[in-house]
Amino acid sequence: MQLHFYGADRAVTGSCHGLTAGGHRILIDCGLQQGRDEVDNSSFPFTPGEIDDVIVTHAHIDHSGRLPLLVKNGFRGRIFATDMTCQLLRIMLLDSAHIQESDALYESRKLARSGKEPAEPLYTAADAEAALALLHPVEYGQMISLSEGIRFRLTDAGHLLGSAYVELWAAEGGETKKLVFSGDIGNVDQPIIRDPSPVSGADYVVMESTYGDRNHETPDDYCAVFSEILNRTFARGGNVIIPSFAVGRTQELLFFFREIKDRGLVPSNPDFPIVVDSPLAVEATRIYSSDLSGYLDDEAGALIAQGVPLFSASNTRLVLTSDESKLLNADRTPKVIIAASGMCDAGRIRHHLKHNLWRPECTVVFVGYQALGSLGRALQEGKQSVKLFGEEVRVNASIETFHGLSSHADHDHLVSWIRQFEAEKPARVFVVHGDEDVSVAFAGELGELGFRTHAPLYRETWDLLTGEILDHGVVQEKKKRSAFQNGSPQYRRLEEAGRQLEEVIRENKGLSNKELAKFTSQIEALLAKWRRDDR
Ligand SMILES: [Zn+2]
Repeated sequence: MQLHFYGADRAVTGSCHGLTAGGHRILIDCGLQQGRDEVDNSSFPFTPGEIDDVIVTHAHIDHSGRLPLLVKNGFRGRIFATDMTCQLLRIMLLDSAHIQESDALYESRKLARSGKEPAEPLYTAADAEAALALLHPVEYGQMISLSEGIRFRLTDAGHLLGSAYVELWAAEGGETKKLVFSGDIGNVDQPIIRDPSPVSGADYVVMESTYGDRNHETPDDYCAVFSEILNRTFARGGNVIIPSFAVGRTQELLFFFREIKDRGLVPSNPDFPIVVDSPLAVEATRIYSSDLSGYLDDEAGALIAQGVPLFSASNTRLVLTSDESKLLNADRTPKVIIAASGMCDAGRIRHHLKHNLWRPECTVVFVGYQALGSLGRALQEGKQSVKLFGEEVRVNASIETFHGLSSHADHDHLVSWIRQFEAEKPARVFVVHGDEDVSVAFAGELGELGFRTHAPLYRETWDLLTGEILDHGVVQEKKKRSAFQNGSPQYRRLEEAGRQLEEVIRENKGLSNKELAKFTSQIEALLAKWRRDDR
């Protein structure tokens, strides 16, 4: 019985883990690596045609975005997810295919000019459709048998509508092991969805660590804090521009805006217009406005019971076509414009930034994480002027960051989450889905709490019956960096040896003082030999 690490290993995107038991091969998630984690997404470290089943924890593209590629490369098995995740996958995978196709078209035009062959998209809408045809919706708590020895159930992870942990039992050679894959662990007290469900008892846990180094600042009253920004901006006649992820975050904003209007919190413009300018967000809002019984928290459920439409504040417009989107720039009525992408690196938000950033009366509000290197991060850090569509645009608008909206558990909640497994500690907790330094440090911290932990590398393989590592994996090459920025291959071997040393130190915590002193002297001797005093 083997566990394989195929993605989001010491990285925050591209989740993919493999399990082989009794000859049956399954994947948990099949995500796209994005942003600064972007690597060559086009090949898999396994043969897709040999995978029997895939279980998807939730619809975010970094957990699901390579499903169409999997099918394109020969996968013909079943894809299991909650019914709501299946609904969201329908719109998100087609949107992702559309982005892949238009990126390839853009590349091909450039290649044609230099007399080269056109670029092939990573996958097409037809590949996405083929993947969607393999979806098998299941309910939370429903026990599903995949083969004679493997069964699983999904439990609400409280991260995105339909998100789940996977609890999986696998048998081989008369032994059964229980594995828990956390997917992304939700934040507490988010609007609309429930808090993460309890889960406990496992031989092995694979857990995320996105915010393993930070806690969230959470305002007591989201609506009151947000209203102050709206009120100030409308009083000076400006627009409020919100770059936002189309699925999840946009619907949370709509949920808050309805409440803000109901409570009359914006006296300068009580029925301010709201525009959602993103076809994907519009489709997602339609799904969020359908029957969500079985997925909502108590507050949202009670509102529905009173007949309150959760996402339709008055004076809200959903914009689909790009012509309609362009017309917005000519209309000077102060309003809220929500558009994707959330980090301003693509999509219609860039047009709205071009037309509003130079206007001192406007405000751009960031409501989500801005990765290093993104346009959103540059604006947050106070850049005075930015380039949009080849034009230099002066930043005169106010730039605000609204803290507190996060779909991920923060550091303290991640620690409480794993503590649910304290009674009978797992044989190993694998820490994934975090930046290199964060996942390694968080694994170390859980080690201090008495868990046997490890932050795996890409392509690592473990034997779950013996608990031993079979393949030490590799440091994954990032796309835009040269090999030497990461160091030579020999240097990377040294780095890996350093990581293993840290692990061995943790494993030997219980040794006698005499043994510990001996081990320490040996390391100190090495340090003395290699330390460079010229720096
Ligand atoms: Zn997610």
